[in-house]
Amino acid sequence: MVTTPVQETSKLNAIFDSCREMGQDPEFNVAKRWLEDHPGKKAIGCFPIHCPVELIHASGMLPLGIIGAGTQIEVTYADSRFQSFVCSIVKTTLELGLTNRLKFLEGMLFHSICDPARNLSSVFQRNFPDMFVEYIHFPQNFASPLARKYLATEYQRILDGLQQRSGHTPTVDDLNRSIALYNRIRAGLREIYRIRTDTPHMISAAESFVLTRAGTLMAPEEFVKIVEEVLAELPGRPSRPKDRIRVILEGSFCELPPVGLIETVEQAGCYILDDDFLRGWRWFTEDVPIRDNPLHELAESYSERAYYSGTKHDTRETKAAHLIQMVKEKKADAVIMQAAKFCEPALFDYALYRKALDEAKIPHLLLEFEEKTWIFDRARSEAETFVESLLFD
Ligand code: SF4
Repeated sequence: MVTTPVQETSKLNAIFDSCREMGQDPEFNVAKRWLEDHPGKKAIGCFPIHCPVELIHASGMLPLGIIGAGTQIEVTYADSRFQSFVCSIVKTTLELGLTNRLKFLEGMLFHSICDPARNLSSVFQRNFPDMFVEYIHFPQNFASPLARKYLATEYQRILDGLQQRSGHTPTVDDLNRSIALYNRIRAGLREIYRIRTDTPHMISAAESFVLTRAGTLMAPEEFVKIVEEVLAELPGRPSRPKDRIRVILEGSFCELPPVGLIETVEQAGCYILDDDFLRGWRWFTEDVPIRDNPLHELAESYSERAYYSGTKHDTRETKAAHLIQMVKEKKADAVIMQAAKFCEPALFDYALYRKALDEAKIPHLLLEFEEKTWIFDRARSEAETFVESLLFD
């Protein structure tokens, strides 16, 4: 049957609508249904930003993105465990646990991204003693070849704990199958991002955000089909370019911005050509090689084939240099730093980015957000003023 552009559009819209709905479900119903349909399987939650999901998947378990709760739940109990000046994602993630919404998980993995994430890991260990809670220490000095060796050993330590919980010891083939599956997903998402950069009127940043988020909440075997369906449908989507400025958006790599905020920035007159939303789930710039030593390949790829990030301490090239290179490569007009309130890595980065952007004469705007924000008037007016200052300069 031949499909018309209108049918393709409504199919794509239906996909994005259902992804958006999934991202707003604090009960994780899609994952729970999958677990019911796969008796004996378990799920492991992954706090941002980058989690080696292949280790979980190869151990026979389901990796899920546990990334705060936005406006979906009230923080009632978690406030008593954290200071008031801590980012919102830490509190809402704990609130999910304290309200028994994470009871269906076998465990949670945290990573060495910042002090609040480290503390959250300890709070989870104390409050949920039956849960498998691990903290992955990523290396800090990538100039040393020992960093990769260390990380492969760290991955082995995590894998040992996972296999004890799942009862399945993954083989090299199991690990490589998981790497291949996630390679397919990441390659699809990279292609969607490429389409956005080249033709930003074809797919919005809000749409690719809800799609990527949904992928963290379901089985990768299901998600890969959705990503490939979006890629098949996109070329037929009718759309016309608008008169907008072209921006790179940075700073939202951990706490998730409300979808409404992303839409607000776009409606204010911005094409967001690239961003760092859910970057941990799109971590690699190319496929992880499938070879005889998968843990080494994952560690090597973390070091050599990963996007720069506010939480990855790589002294070989400054993050500001990466950002400016991206602005030039993507022919962007400006940078919007959209950082979560109290997010130290993002706000510290902004001090460095700001200096480098000023020197390179690249306009920039700082927008702070909280996942629970639902009124965007201030962001709208700041973004509109910024756009006008560029369009009518
Ligand atoms: S939002 Fe920032 S400060 Fe909070 S957990 Fe994430 S990286 Fe850490």
